[in-house]
Amino acid sequence: MRLLSIILTLSICGAAYMGDYIVFNSKYSSNQMFRAFADTSVHGVIGLLSALLFFSHGMNVTTQAWVCNTLICFLVSAFIDIDHVIVAKSFNLKDIANVNRRGMFHDTSFCTIMSSILLAFSHFTRKQNIYLLTYMIILAFTSHHIRDGNRRGIWFYPYAHTQPLGKCVYVFLICVLPSFLAFIFNYTKPVFSHRVIQYGMV
Ligand SMILES: [Zn+2]
Repeated sequence: MRLLSIILTLSICGAAYMGDYIVFNSKYSSNQMFRAFADTSVHGVIGLLSALLFFSHGMNVTTQAWVCNTLICFLVSAFIDIDHVIVAKSFNLKDIANVNRRGMFHDTSFCTIMSSILLAFSHFTRKQNIYLLTYMIILAFTSHHIRDGNRRGIWFYPYAHTQPLGKCVYVFLICVLPSFLAFIFNYTKPVFSHRVIQYGMV
């Protein structure tokens, strides 16, 4: 398990460096469509690897639970960028590129408040599926915001953006984040009312 955690941590580091190179420095980077698609894909891949690393720390959940939650983390990490479409009120890439402000899904204050409410709700109701889902949302938005923070800083509404994060700082943070959250999860989780999660349709 420890070797798997090391491999996954290195994979996140590799995905961040390789992904940034492909998005910003490859010969296709001048193409707006390619850049938008590749950037969102890199967010998704980092979310997926982060969830796998989170579950590599002995979560004691069913295969179905970790597979579903890993997919959720992948999707949430990628779909946070739907924000740009919402703010631009258009699917046109030129309109999206001309937007000079970020939407609420890129607001770290908003995401922190919403996930704290969800975390408190799942903690008191002892619903393991909502508890895990909340951790996946936290993992997805924090890794996404930290990676975006490399270019534009992290946004805490109603306060200003932070300074852009250095490359090494951002890569280090997204590499340690899943293991840190797994540690918090394992030491703060309540006694769940149902140990085995049933996802029905999935
Ligand atoms: Zn983004």
